Amino acid sequence: MEKSPTGLGQSNLDYSSITLENFPERKVWIKTFGCQMNYHDSDRMAAHLKMLNFSQTEEVEDADLVLFNTCAVRDLANNKFYSQLGELKHLKKKKGKDLIIGVGGCVAQTEGKDLVKKYKHLNFAFGPDTIDAINDMVFRTYAGDDKFSINTWDRSSDFSIETKVNHGTPQAFVNIIKGCDKYCTYCIVPYTRGRERSRRKDEIITDVKRLVEYQGIQEVMLLGQNVNSFGKENGENLSELIMGLDEINGLEILRYTTSHPYDVSDELIAVHGSAKKLSKHLHLPVQSGSDTVLQRMNREYTKEHYLGLLEKLRKSQPEIVVSSDIICGFVNETDEEHQETIDLLDRAQFDFIYSYVYSERSKTRAAKMEDFLTKEVRKSRLHEVQAHQLKIQQKLRQEMVGKTYRVLIEGSNSMKGEVKLKGRTNCNRIIHFKPMMNDHLIERNLKWHWVDVKCTSATALSCQGELLEIYGRRLH
Ligand code: SF4
Repeated sequence: MEKSPTGLGQSNLDYSSITLENFPERKVWIKTFGCQMNYHDSDRMAAHLKMLNFSQTEEVEDADLVLFNTCAVRDLANNKFYSQLGELKHLKKKKGKDLIIGVGGCVAQTEGKDLVKKYKHLNFAFGPDTIDAINDMVFRTYAGDDKFSINTWDRSSDFSIETKVNHGTPQAFVNIIKGCDKYCTYCIVPYTRGRERSRRKDEIITDVKRLVEYQGIQEVMLLGQNVNSFGKENGENLSELIMGLDEINGLEILRYTTSHPYDVSDELIAVHGSAKKLSKHLHLPVQSGSDTVLQRMNREYTKEHYLGLLEKLRKSQPEIVVSSDIICGFVNETDEEHQETIDLLDRAQFDFIYSYVYSERSKTRAAKMEDFLTKEVRKSRLHEVQAHQLKIQQKLRQEMVGKTYRVLIEGSNSMKGEVKLKGRTNCNRIIHFKPMMNDHLIERNLKWHWVDVKCTSATALSCQGELLEIYGRRLH
């Protein structure tokens, strides 16, 4: 018996008849749900699959391999996944063995075995900790072992990888820590992604240097469920990592997400003032403005602690722009507790928020709490939070008018029949503008150029600008 080429070797199959060399050209369609970590994982899978001669397709009908990367955090993503998986039954019937279907991510971690049993057309399921063995799973399936589920944890204390970039842009996601030890009562992540494990600082710095030098990467997003916990087990920390990365020539912007307010240290706040390349945007999820709700959520900080962090951050970096997450209608949230969140919005002055109604996740502590709130109350509170935030945003965005921003052009949109370029500022705001300068149409494709744009008008949700300067270097 031979082991599979990627070494996972979990089946007793004889792989000797299949070699990596004899894999014909095939197509993979990947559907990703959920957070940036999932998008990063999907990219990583696509990069691995290139070694097995797979290229990505946008059309599911053309695919030889369909992969879902699932999210267990939000109901909407969950429902969409189940409906799309169900619909694939017909395609599988048509293509038979020429179509392989796999489900990865957080849903597969907790329900993988049941999924494989329930959906006859599903070949395999795998948890987030096994994505680097995707080739092995595909290999196993072609070898005839086509009904399995892998949701093992990598229990080693070392977390060591090389970042794979697969999307042809100058932006890269670099995973620095996986798992989460926080156990917020509403969140399933610690059960699907396991305990925190960090990469070593030096390995990450070498990795990013390589991306910048050899792959044209200009902008790096450091990723993890709680990046502020980075390095704890190794006596390292996020501040030192940022300062190390700040030295890399050719790296233009450094971002990180997601942050937990409890772990934002004074040292990290100081780094926001001193690191030259660190983005002037920070996403710092608060979830609620009520101390009693925060306690029920097990968030480990109070509203005043959170607002104190904002004050210190704004002192350290006066240009910083902060965004946040809000959960509306958490278990048994009272009118007063809800009002405290509205008040927090006024005090925090977030640039934007992601807001959701609370939705129960089985296996979490919040799911075991008795809950009296109705769906209607939750929805109306969500609308109230969103309407209130929009007024704040409207005011903040007005302050942009007349100012000039350097933006990286990420693409273009057609707006009311007119083509407009779309650029992202250092502080993560999007500005749309015509490809015209001094009344002349710019013929060149400006994607991935840095340009200066003057903001000419703004609403709560969008900004319009005028192109002032193009920098010669096409950055990718
Ligand atoms: S910090 Fe809380 S919400 Fe974030 S991943 Fe960990 S448990 Fe979930």
